[in-house]
This record gives sequence, structure tokens and C-alpha cells, in this order.
Amino acid sequence: MKILLLGKNGQVGWELQRSLAPLGELVALDRHTLGGLSGDLASLESLRSTIRQIAPDVIVNAAAYTAVDKAESETELASRINGLATGVMAEEAAALGAWLVHYSTDYVFNGQGVTPWLETDLVAPVNHYGASKLAGEQAIIASGCKHLVFRTSWVYGARGNNFAKTMLRLAKDRETLSVIADQVGAPTGADLIADVTATALRQVMDQQHLSGLYHLAAAGEVSWHGYATHVIEFAQANGEQLAVKAVDPIETTAYPTPARRPLNSRLNTQKLRDNFSLHLPDWQSGVTRMLMEVLNK
Ligand code: NDP
Repeated sequence: MKILLLGKNGQVGWELQRSLAPLGELVALDRHTLGGLSGDLASLESLRSTIRQIAPDVIVNAAAYTAVDKAESETELASRINGLATGVMAEEAAALGAWLVHYSTDYVFNGQGVTPWLETDLVAPVNHYGASKLAGEQAIIASGCKHLVFRTSWVYGARGNNFAKTMLRLAKDRETLSVIADQVGAPTGADLIADVTATALRQVMDQQHLSGLYHLAAAGEVSWHGYATHVIEFAQANGEQLAVKAVDPIETTAYPTPARRPLNSRLNTQKLRDNFSLHLPDWQSGVTRMLMEVLNK
């Protein structure tokens, strides 16, 4: 089996390089051109030509325009990368009879209510990033290609920057932190997403009826404030010297950003767990693992 991985150095892409390796021949690209192959999603024709040259059995797209606030001003670029480029992959996958694995977001929803979102719930993005990711999903479905689209939330990886590392850095210097308490979701490890992807891919190879859209997130829920508190308490319990004395809850309205954020990022993952016989661990277990790595424990 030949697998083309796009976005190999992002949080999820990095973990996919590991989890997909045992499944077959892996061609992993970032946005740069390598040996005549280009993984730059902003250049639609080079992307199309790269897919044709490789002729993969599976395309896994971990590349995306993920700068949520910047997407409000760079609308055309965000739409090209998240919408149009995904459409090119879908068309080429359909023509090749290949599978397309793609990642989307809870930001396709408007964030109202407190009920975890189902795959069948009405979509209504509140910012341009969400709209551009929705355009990508719709292009995949319209193409008729075999696909796995995983909507996920609050992704972190041990490599690179993440929310927990930012909190730890701030907690070393400041006595008080103010963190948003009215946005609720489930921090989900890039390693978990990559492992679920590999497990699901193995299963769909001989069960094509499993093609579809799935919600994928760690179990449980927490606000950003609860997440920050958890991280700081864990670090202190493990001997980190922090200046912080209080983590104050604030409302989203107290922290204005260019892009609006949905308040309810809860995802119902029943469909994924049932169709693939999967267990999704609670968010604390993945975060603890990441913190152990970050703190070198
Ligand atoms: P990252 O931002 O860590 O990685 C995105 C990758 O896409 C980066 O490696 C980036 O490369 C690459 N990229 C950006 N523009 C281009 C381009 N023009 N051509 C090729 N590559 C490009 O994202 P995550 O790993 O966190 O996200 C993976 C998926 O999950 C995405 O589809 C995202 O929308 C989705 N998701 C993410 C969430 C999150 O909290 N992060 C939440 C919900 C969904 P470079 O480093 O060179 O810019």
C-alpha cells in the first residue's frame, strides 16, 4: 500500500509519520518541493500533479491553514488551503480509487448549547477558519471519493508549542493568570489522533462501508480554565517551582480576538467508537503523558 502524507511536520502530521509507517510505503511531504514533488497546498496545480505522480492508495492530509485569528484577514489563502486544496485531493482520490483521510474541526458548529455535537448536527461556523474547514469537508463529500474525515478539537502535541506549555511558561513569571472558563471541549493528543487514524485505516481497507465523517476527541470535557488549573497543579505536584498563586476564570467576552470562538466544543464520539470498536481515553491521561515529557519526568 502506498500512502501520501501531506503536512508531515504539523502536530498531527508528525505523529502520523510514526503511526502510518508500518502500514505501507510512506511518502511524507511538507510544503517544500522535494525531488519534483510539491506538498504546498497553496499551489493547487502542483498539488494535483504531485498526487498524479505518486498515484497513492491513500492520501492522508494533515496540512491545513490553522491560524484561526489570522484567517479572518487572510480569507482567500485560508479558503484555498482548507477548501480548494482539499477539493483537489478529493477529486484525485476519486479518480485513483484511493482513500482520502482528512481532519476537520468542531469549529464547523456555532458552539451553542452544552450537548456534545453529533456528526449529523447542523453546521454553522462562526469564523472564517471554521467556514474554510467546512468547505473542505463538503468538497470531499461532493467528490464521491472513499474517505475518513475526522472532526477533532483542542489538539496538542508534545513537540512544538501548545496551550499547556504556554500556561507553564506564564506560571513561572506571573502570580495571577486569567483563563477563559466558558469554552468547553476535550484536549486531544496528536498521538491519539494518529493512532486512531492508523487503526481505522487498517479496518476500512476491507470494509469500504465505513467510509464517512467521524468525531474524534479524547473522552471527558473541561474548560480552558480547568485545563490550565490541571496543568499547573500537576507541575507543582511534580516539583516545578512556579510563581503563580491564582488562576482566575474569565469569560470569552473579556478576551476579545479577531475570530469568534464557539463556546461548546464538545464532540460526541459514539459513531467512531462503535464503527471501529475503539476506546477513547479520557483527556487527562494524554495530557499527563505530554506533561511528563515536557517536564522531563
Ligand atoms: P498544525 O498547525 O500543527 O499543522 C498544520 C501543518 O500544515 C503545518 O505543518 C503547516 O506547515 C502545514 N501547512 C500550512 N500551510 C500549508 C501549505 N500551504 N502547504 C502545505 N502545508 C501547509 O495543525 P494540527 O496538526 O494541530 O492540525 C491537524 C488538523 O487538525 C488540521 O486539519 C486542523 O484544521 C485540524 N484541527 C486542529 C485543531 C487544533 O487545535 N490544532 C482543532 C481541530 C481540528 P508549516 O509549519 O510549514 O506552516
